[in-house]
Amino acid sequence: MFSVIVFRYFLIAGSFYFFFYMFSPEKWKTRRVNLHSHHSKQFKKELKWSLISAMIFALAGAITAVAWKKGYTAFYDEISEYGWIYFFSSMFIVMFIHETYYYWLHRAMHHPKIYKHIHKTHHDSVTPSPWTAFSFHPAEAFLEALILPLILFFIPVHYYVLLTYLILMTLSSVVNHLNIEIYPYGFEKHWLGKWLIGATHHSLHHSQFRYNFGLYFTFWDKLAKTECPDFKKLFRQKSSQIS
Ligand SMILES: [Zn+2]
Ligand SMILES: [Zn+2]
Repeated sequence: MFSVIVFRYFLIAGSFYFFFYMFSPEKWKTRRVNLHSHHSKQFKKELKWSLISAMIFALAGAITAVAWKKGYTAFYDEISEYGWIYFFSSMFIVMFIHETYYYWLHRAMHHPKIYKHIHKTHHDSVTPSPWTAFSFHPAEAFLEALILPLILFFIPVHYYVLLTYLILMTLSSVVNHLNIEIYPYGFEKHWLGKWLIGATHHSLHHSQFRYNFGLYFTFWDKLAKTECPDFKKLFRQKSSQIS
């Protein structure tokens, strides 16, 4: 389980790092959001914290797998059991619950009394990188690892949905921490784009601390009025750049 998680992290974060920072760095330079370059020892620290996080995620995965074998989870393996509509909807149900849990947990972790003990590790990467995707203090990794097994105990989820979800989760975290805006110009007004978090949105969170707390979607930030007022302007500026 640990090696699968580490492999997934290295494959996705590594591909993005290679493509955007090594293969064609000049092309994407003008789309970098936070202009401070990465700290010299940042990647080493991020890798260390990410490997510890991967261990915690693997443990949560192993416990869930045992519970599944013993029949305690709501997993199902025949799509016909709940039908295709539910099969696709279950992905959005899981995403919505995870988003809600993460948004409010994230707000709580920014409370001054909690921040320095748990969440500061993640924010040490003021300019995020693809390697920041899993770079959490173990306590934060534990809190983040709790929700998915909890969901799987109560909400029927097909294992294809779970596998897709786990890949999407890593992909989204890497895109959001890339610090290079890869979405197209005008995406902040697009029917789908305005609800999705991307590199500009999340880089602003890493540099300003007080806005943009969401995980995949912007709806909680919009509802709770925590979306950065400069986001759209910065997004338009960054997404129009390409050299
Ligand atoms: Zn934060
Ligand atoms: Zn982050």
